[in-house]
Parts: sequence; C-alpha cells; structure tokens
Amino acid sequence: MALIVKKFGGSSVKDAEHVMNVAGIVVDEYKAGNDVIVVVSAQGDTTDDLIEKAKEINSATPLKREMDMLMTAGEQISIALLAMAIDKLGCPVISLLGWQAGFSTDSHHGKARIKKINTERMKTELSKGNIIIVAGFQGLNKYDDLTTLGRGGSDTSAVAIAAAMSADRCQIYTDVDGVYTADPRKVKNAVKMDEVQYDEMLEMATLGAQVLNNRSVEMAKKYNVELEVLSSLERKPGTIIKEHVKMEKTLIRGVAKDTSVTTISVVGLKDQPGVAFKLFNKLAQYKVNVDIILQSVGRHGTKDITFTVSHEQMDDAIKAMESMKGVFDYSDLKVNNGLSKISIVGAGMESNPGVASKMFEALYDADINIHMISTSETKISVLIETELADKAVQAVHDAFIG
Ligand code: ADP
Ligand code: ASP
Ligand code: MG
Repeated sequence: MALIVKKFGGSSVKDAEHVMNVAGIVVDEYKAGNDVIVVVSAQGDTTDDLIEKAKEINSATPLKREMDMLMTAGEQISIALLAMAIDKLGCPVISLLGWQAGFSTDSHHGKARIKKINTERMKTELSKGNIIIVAGFQGLNKYDDLTTLGRGGSDTSAVAIAAAMSADRCQIYTDVDGVYTADPRKVKNAVKMDEVQYDEMLEMATLGAQVLNNRSVEMAKKYNVELEVLSSLERKPGTIIKEHVKMEKTLIRGVAKDTSVTTISVVGLKDQPGVAFKLFNKLAQYKVNVDIILQSVGRHGTKDITFTVSHEQMDDAIKAMESMKGVFDYSDLKVNNGLSKISIVGAGMESNPGVASKMFEALYDADINIHMISTSETKISVLIETELADKAVQAVHDAFIG
C-alpha cells in the first residue's frame, strides 16, 4: 500500500461534472489499495471573483487579514463538494480546512510561508480508512488567524503534505497534460517534456510558467519530493519533475511569459552613496520583492533607478516610495503596467555564447522592441510591450525549439 498525494487545480473542479470526474480519479486510487490525500483549489475563477468583491468595497487597501478570511472561503467550498462526491461513489471521506490538517504558517497575510505541519489529524483519519480532502492555499498563524500562501499556493500545500507525510507520490493534476517548452495554449508547436529537472522547473515557474507555483518546486527540491504534472481529463502519464533526468542537454529548455510586471522609475535621485541602499531597504521593509533593477545617469548630478515588481505588489511599492519623501527626494515616480517579461530558461546556455544574441535577433526579426534586459547563468529575460508578448514567445520559441 502506498500513500499518494493528489492536487487538483481550480479548472479541474470548476463545476459539478468536473468534481465528479475528480472524485472518480480519487476513488480509483483508493480502490487500488492506496491511502489518498487530496488537495484542492477553489472552483474555477472563484478566487478572482472573491478579490473582485473585496475591491467593490475597498479598491485601494482592503485589510490583508480580511482578504485572507475571504479568499480561504473558496477552498472551503471545493473540499466539501468533493467530499460529497466521493461519498456518493461509496468511499469513506473527510474534508479538512488547512488548520484542521495541521498547517501552521507565519503571519505574512496574502503570502504566508508554511512553518510546520502537525500531521496527527491526517494520520488518524488515514488509520480510520478515510480519504482526506484538504483545502489548499491556506493555514493558520500563531494568533489563530487564517492565512493564505499566495496565488497558486495549493501546489505548495500538496508538496508540503507529501514531504511531511513521506508520501510515495505527489501528483499535480491540471488542465494540460504536462509541462511544455512553452504555454501549450499559446504556442501551438510547444513540446511536452517527459522529465524536467527541479532547477529548470523552478526557473520556468518563477518566470511565469504558471503550471506550477514556484514555491512548490522549491519545496519539492528541498525535501526531494518527486512531482508529476498531469491532466485531470485524460488518463495518461504527465511530466515528472525530479533531480536527475535523462533528457539530452539542449541549449534552452523552455520559454516563459510573465504579464504581471510593473516597472517603477524613481526619477531625479541624488547621485551619491547610500541612495540605492535606502531605496531598496525601504522596499524590503514593505516586503516588496524586486525583480529587475536598472540604474541610469540623469542630468545635473542626479540618477534614475527603475525596478520591476509584480502587479500584486505595485501598491506596496508605491507606498514605500512615497514614504521616502522627506528622507531623500526625487523629482518623479513613473509607474508602468504595460510591459511583460519574456524569458528563456536552460542550464545548457551557461557555456554557450551567442544565446542572448539569438534571442534578440528573433525579437528584432519580429519587430519587437526591448525595454529592459536581465540575465543569469540559466536564463535571459527581456521586458517588452504586453500586447506583443504572445508574438514574442512564439518568435523566441521558433528560434530555439522550432
Ligand atoms: P490549475 O487551475 O490546475 O492550478 P493553472 O491555470 O494554475 O492550473 O496552470 C495550468 C496552466 O498553465 C495551463 O492551462 C497552461 O495554459 C499554463 N502554462 C503556462 N506555461 C506552461 C508550460 N510551460 N507548460 C504547461 N502549461 C503551462
Ligand atoms: N485558489 C488559489 C488561487 O487561485 C490557490 C490555487 O489555486 O492554487 O490562487
Ligand atoms: Mg495553479
């Protein structure tokens, strides 16, 4: 008998028919003699709808604690419905909210980190023969307040359970049948991969391949949890994510797109030591994750610093910058939400000169202008106009993968 953790995303449980389909997959696993713990997300676009409801009340600064109270409701609905569906198919089942399943997190509302999972309740339920359905994306902080793990966080809930319970398998079911060289819904000739290394998957996920949440990959690597990404609609093998893979070394593994990019330019800063430190220190105090940074020389002894953050963190970043007024001055704050980041990822590019120029040539041939560039040993990213993002992904994918 094995212990299997299965996670189903929002698209896989979007309505009654899909919930019954998932129940069928779970029950088959259980009837094969295995212990099964299931993690589910909120149905369809529920989380987005809940966020919209909050914005109708307060579009600027809804309380972060109450946002978590609101968003956790989405997963509560799906666990109950899936438990009812499994019961209808005749198997013993119990649904658990994050805290009932033992999830303790820090207090960073909206992006909490899991600190510990107390597995006692899950072990008791398994020993009673129950299938367990756990609400993904949520936990409880030390003040007994509900927290959420950040968008796409149910993947992380599943990996965390697999690690804490030493599960034999961790399967992430979604609406595509695996991880591709680019988003298969956008790039028609994208290629499905049988296996991907943790590090390459982590880069892809961080750079916008939403098929897996990046924290879940980070955690899978740390605790050596092998993941499988597979379809909830077709019963066939998916993509395995693990440390050692048999794949041939290619120049690049994939192309990713991130449309959630805000660039913030702080214009007319004094060109003197300590300015960059104070600016980024302030952003850190506001818990803003900065991605690309560009400093350029201005006029009359001034400089401009431009950095990018996700759309989610734009308000916090602006608040941080506004709070600096008086500490040291700048002449203007320019905010732009119209750019996207296109990245190529691959461990093989490190020792290959010419990869960057090939990417830039592909963009040039497609008549796409580059606004900012950032590179590391395993990725090259460019910022371009969002309306050209899909065209850019296709052009770059054609150049490297064909
Ligand atoms: P879920 O609701 O199951 O969590 P998500 O929408 O979060 O599903 O993730 C699945 C989606 O990720 C797919 O529908 C696909 O459009 C997108 N995607 C982006 N990049 C990739 C990629 N490289 N491989 C596979 N899917 C990708
Ligand atoms: N429901 C949450 C979201 O939409 C968590 C998840 O789907 O993983 O972000
Ligand atoms: Mg997801």
